[in-house]
Amino acid sequence: MSTLTLARAADGTSGTPLDVLRTVFGYDAFRGQQAEVIDTVVAGGDALVLMPTGGGKSLCYQVPALVRPGTGVVVSPLIALMQDQVDALAALGVRAAFLNSSQQMDQRREVEAAYLAGELDLLYLAPERLNVPETVRLLQRGRISLFAIDEAHCVSSWGHDFRPDYLALAMLHDLWPDVPRIALTATATAATAAEIVSRLRLDEAAQFVASFDRPNIEYRIVPKDNPRAQLLTLLRTEHPGDAGIVYCLSRRSVEQTAELLQKEGIPALPYHAGLDAGLRQQNQSRFLREPGLVMVATIAFGMGIDKPDVRFVAHLDLPKSVEGYYQETGRAGRDGAPATAWLAYGLADVVSQRKFIDSSDGDAAHRRRLSAHLDAMLALCETVECRRVQLLAYFGQQAEPCGNCDTCTRPPQTWDGTVPAQKLLSAVWRLADRRQRYGAGHVVDILLGQQTERVVQLGHTDLTVFGIGTELDAGEWRSVVRQLLAQQLLGVADGYGTLMLTPGSTAVLKGERPVMLRREAPKAARSSASRRRSSSSAAAVALDGPAEAVFERLRAWRAATAKETGVPPYVVFHDSVLRQIASSAPTSLDALGAVSGVGANKLGKWGDAILEVVAG
Ligand code: ADP
Ligand code: ZN
Repeated sequence: MSTLTLARAADGTSGTPLDVLRTVFGYDAFRGQQAEVIDTVVAGGDALVLMPTGGGKSLCYQVPALVRPGTGVVVSPLIALMQDQVDALAALGVRAAFLNSSQQMDQRREVEAAYLAGELDLLYLAPERLNVPETVRLLQRGRISLFAIDEAHCVSSWGHDFRPDYLALAMLHDLWPDVPRIALTATATAATAAEIVSRLRLDEAAQFVASFDRPNIEYRIVPKDNPRAQLLTLLRTEHPGDAGIVYCLSRRSVEQTAELLQKEGIPALPYHAGLDAGLRQQNQSRFLREPGLVMVATIAFGMGIDKPDVRFVAHLDLPKSVEGYYQETGRAGRDGAPATAWLAYGLADVVSQRKFIDSSDGDAAHRRRLSAHLDAMLALCETVECRRVQLLAYFGQQAEPCGNCDTCTRPPQTWDGTVPAQKLLSAVWRLADRRQRYGAGHVVDILLGQQTERVVQLGHTDLTVFGIGTELDAGEWRSVVRQLLAQQLLGVADGYGTLMLTPGSTAVLKGERPVMLRREAPKAARSSASRRRSSSSAAAVALDGPAEAVFERLRAWRAATAKETGVPPYVVFHDSVLRQIASSAPTSLDALGAVSGVGANKLGKWGDAILEVVAG
């Protein structure tokens, strides 16, 4: 446990929110709605906070916990990250601890004693601990300043991160009616917010909804061609040496991709639920601590990861929902510097996800919901409008075309695909007439008049649709198939990707419904806007020669200090803070303390060492 360095009044509180922000965290001013949220909670009111990743949610409960008497109890599902969170707070001089299943009995006893003695500012708990009566009794014997329910969307049973233990959190309202509760999430749909309110009984809570725009993230969705080669190109040309996350759907694909990257000389680590827990924890910890690692992972990885300098998030498979996509891509660029969200998406993704939904457990309503999620994701992929506008519209927020997504920088064209759609649908219809069924590849072969072995053997050269589609090439036909699937004008019949007609197909075949399609922009040279983002140090304050040298020295000092204390480098200081120190070159502790991000505790602990490093 850290030593207490905060000046505290006799009742255990320490000044106004602004005092705490300045002395403890070293920041000058609150951001966005932080001040209002904090005032609400300090005054004893409940709050629901919807803020994007990197928006500054933690301060919304950390500051009130320091201002109000008692211990702030933080419910968080992120057991694997609690140690880091507590370490980061300790570096600020905040007295924090956690209780979770990873601890030995004696460690737990120590934390419990500290809580009961009123020696904790913040106590992190896994939700399942609150389902244990002893924990509730323990909490009742101490003084609680507030409950913070982090990742509150985990209470949503239809969401992508449902945790049954979250449902029990409704009891906090009954057991501690006078303790303010603050629920926080970066998941933004109105439906999720409503579910959080009702399940956590937050009807009286003030709601704070921030803009969900992440302007520094460049969104790109490209047609899948040879995804691993495309990924390699992305990493080599735009993100050499950068830290990033690559998401894959399956464990197998995680392992293969990680291996491939390693073989190509890119330092990559795998992460999925099938790996041994120790290895998983080790890989996560290395990703947080070592610079320039690429984490190849299933979506089991990432929630709560607050590594600020993740420069890219790449998806090799289609996310199942826009919420998922937004969460996962949101892990890029928390430091505000340029970052890339890249997704490769293809025909097979649509086929496999439709198949997955059809064969999934649950009732028809559940499948309809999954299907609606997928449709929204597909609409985002196939849009000819600004990705950001479409993404934010999904969360009920408005935006202007951003100039920082692929459809803005290289607008795709729309074209009238009615006739090709009719040709394709009639080919599917003719084939469906026969006993066997055929997937996209075969149908496209027929349209192109390819005399493949299979086409010839099956006598499909005799079909009236044979060779009627030579106006498009195979790639273009696959794009037509994909988009018709996305618009549900074409369906998938079985696990083999057999194409079939849908109720929507009829209107197209009868000429009652035109079909507008997206034409991919030619693979042009990359736009200058995205070329600018190619280097990891392109961030924030530009440094001149001497300052750059100071910055490098500070980084070396930080690496050594982080290693010594066993915390990730960004817990010591973010790059942005080091950069400011390098450019302002302080010669006194006062001047150093004025740099944003340098609080009293870090100044006391490391101030002299930093001044020495700056002096050279
Ligand atoms: P979230 O939990 O919403 O993803 P964090 O709480 O981790 O975001 O905050 C993101 C980053 O912004 C952190 O590095 C944090 O220290 C910084 N930050 C938050 N609030 C402020 C502020 N008022 N001034 C300066 N930096 C801030
Ligand atoms: Zn845009």
